[in-house]
Amino acid sequence: MLELSTPVQYVKGVGPRIADILAGKGIRSVGDLLYYLPFRYEDRLNPRGIAELRPGEMATIIGEVRNSGLFRTRRMPIFQLTVGQGRARLRCLWFNATYLKEKFVPGQMIALYGKVEEDQRNRELQIIQPQFEILGDAGDGGEAGAAEKKVAESLEIGRIVPIYESAGQGKLTPRWFRRVIRTALDSLTPDLPEAIPAVVRGRLGLVSPRAALWNVHWPEPGESFEELQSRRTPAHIRLIFDELFFVELGLELKRRQQKAQTGIPFRLDEGVRAAIKKILPFHPTAAQKRVLKEIAGDMEKPHPMRRLLQGDVGSGKTIVGFEAAIIAIENGCQVALMAPTEILAQQHYFSARRILENAGYRIVLLTGSLEPERKKEIRRHIAQGNAQLVIGTHALLEEKVEFAKLGLVIVDEQHRFGVMQRLKLMKKSSEGEESSRAALGRTFRQGSGQAGESARPHTSPAEPDVLVMTATPIPRTLALTLYGDLDLSVLDELPPGRTPIVTKCVSDEESPKVWDFLRKQVAAGHQAYVVYPVISENEESELKAAIKMYRELSGHVFADLKVGLLHGRLGADLKDQVMGMFQKGELQILVATTVIEVGVDVTNATVMVIEHAERFGLAQLHQLRGRIGRGAAKSYCVLMTGGNITEEGQRRLDAMVRTNDGFQIAELDLELRGPGEFFGTRQAGMPDFRVANIIRDAQLLEAAKREAAAVLAGPNSEISSEEISRALVQMRARWQHTYGLVEVG
Ligand code: ADP
Ligand code: MG
Repeated sequence: MLELSTPVQYVKGVGPRIADILAGKGIRSVGDLLYYLPFRYEDRLNPRGIAELRPGEMATIIGEVRNSGLFRTRRMPIFQLTVGQGRARLRCLWFNATYLKEKFVPGQMIALYGKVEEDQRNRELQIIQPQFEILGDAGDGGEAGAAEKKVAESLEIGRIVPIYESAGQGKLTPRWFRRVIRTALDSLTPDLPEAIPAVVRGRLGLVSPRAALWNVHWPEPGESFEELQSRRTPAHIRLIFDELFFVELGLELKRRQQKAQTGIPFRLDEGVRAAIKKILPFHPTAAQKRVLKEIAGDMEKPHPMRRLLQGDVGSGKTIVGFEAAIIAIENGCQVALMAPTEILAQQHYFSARRILENAGYRIVLLTGSLEPERKKEIRRHIAQGNAQLVIGTHALLEEKVEFAKLGLVIVDEQHRFGVMQRLKLMKKSSEGEESSRAALGRTFRQGSGQAGESARPHTSPAEPDVLVMTATPIPRTLALTLYGDLDLSVLDELPPGRTPIVTKCVSDEESPKVWDFLRKQVAAGHQAYVVYPVISENEESELKAAIKMYRELSGHVFADLKVGLLHGRLGADLKDQVMGMFQKGELQILVATTVIEVGVDVTNATVMVIEHAERFGLAQLHQLRGRIGRGAAKSYCVLMTGGNITEEGQRRLDAMVRTNDGFQIAELDLELRGPGEFFGTRQAGMPDFRVANIIRDAQLLEAAKREAAAVLAGPNSEISSEEISRALVQMRARWQHTYGLVEVG
């Protein structure tokens, strides 16, 4: 009997060499093999008759090889195959397919799948480059006995057949997978553990794990073909829900543990309110007020805040962060504000000084590039509790800064904070002693000295509050479910007085016109960005192109204007200087790479020209564009394209021209890139969900979250404590499994 955890070599037909190939696909155990699901199914129960085919349809045909051959045209060799059913014939063509020459023998049965088309010249039907499978050789004696052969054939014809992605450069064919998976299912232990409580199974109508694994590979004869293709059979639903449920259970548990920790109960009295009012440079929007209330409510509680503030670019997250900072500082605590880049940290520092310093708050900037002496001095300030607001890059976190009394951590612009990375943080902080330390707060060591004006004594170690600010506008339900261990606030309103940005897409052949336009804007007193794609700041050639562009613009096109250059490889001092000059209006045009992508805020900049816009991702374009349209003056974004644009690239550009709405853009981005890329799970080296797709399965995701909460609410008449602990054991095993994979890499 095979268990799910049995190494895959123990399946009949899998030797060490094949096991190696499978390992390359992430298949190491019997369970992995059984989760290698068909990516589609073929209806070979009701294959189509050649005579009844219609042009344009996708069809499965089973027929007999009549003849085949390679013929050469002027442009390329073409392989042609004729398949027959009685008197009906169908032609199939493959281009450049010399490799098929010896493949077919007249009399073989084969299955074909592809799009039926009409030959323009003779109006006959044909299929170009169909997928095919040779089902049995004519007069094939072989070693296989007749009975065995019959069984094998029964897996190929006369039923709905699963189609798998081949592996090992085609060595492991769909047919191979079919047989081996079938063998594994045949010898699979009859009692697979069931870790989902009965009442949950009942509510969702879940079938048993065993039935799910069988039917997802070998659908029952009556199964709906549509449901199979759309992954909506009971078998699929069981496997998908299973996967989502245990992730949500983990997140929900984490959330509860966090809620149970000791935090700092900040006081929000009249004095604090007045202090907040005093710094506000403008009237907050209704959304900003609501969000601050949610944050303040968390901060007053005796448990640490773990809140995600989501708001589109330009929605005004910074000031909300500052307001929260004041609550902590007025309560005698220190605040750390972390930004992903030095430029952003710098800019937060400038705005903090502008907004907070007059009110007497003590602010320091700590970044990786400071002189060691200066760094040491600043660290001392922090350790002694003199510095109240500490702004820095994430290096802050890595270098284990010692705070006298850290009360609040604000993490800005984590827009690439994928769900899997969050899971990783969760892993870190759920280990042994560490378990009571929050993922982010954990890294900060609390110093022993208490800050001077401590508002109230509290028993340490109290966890600091954490506020994560993100510009990734994902649909609310999705955010709630994905960031299950964070509470969510949404800034869904832009500050008043903004005129929508006008976006145009032009070919770079029209650049003279674009430069004219830019010149007019500058003459009217505005500033402009020209962005060049240097996607990875390490790409020498891209960087060269950007610098060349800068020379061209500063030396010729705008020789009479003040043009600056900003890219990731400039020294920190120089970067600051350039950014500072642009901020003060001493530069009129800033040629920049994507280093300005996040957060840079110069309200007087009204034009952004993006060169080679087709090379950027949609989220990135939206982030870049968010640098303009920040003031009352009308702003313009010009997407310049050069060279070939893919269909997907065109859809990205169209979306940018069509809408300014971050949510709409995020949805399309998600659709174009798929959840793995979108949420950065690939980047983080994490495996994607094996069967679930968080977009397609959004409803099941919500159900999983709901049921996870119900399970953790504790035993009652519906759920026994035994069922709960069984679910928790399973959850831990799965999380470990996921991380086992990650930590190897
Ligand atoms: P983001 O959410 O992208 O970080 P910022 O916090 O940088 O946005 O705010 C964008 C711009 O809007 C800033 O110039 C900021 O001063 C301004 N702003 C924020 N809130 C308001 C408001 N309530 N009224 C007017 N301007 C505001
Ligand atoms: Mg910001």
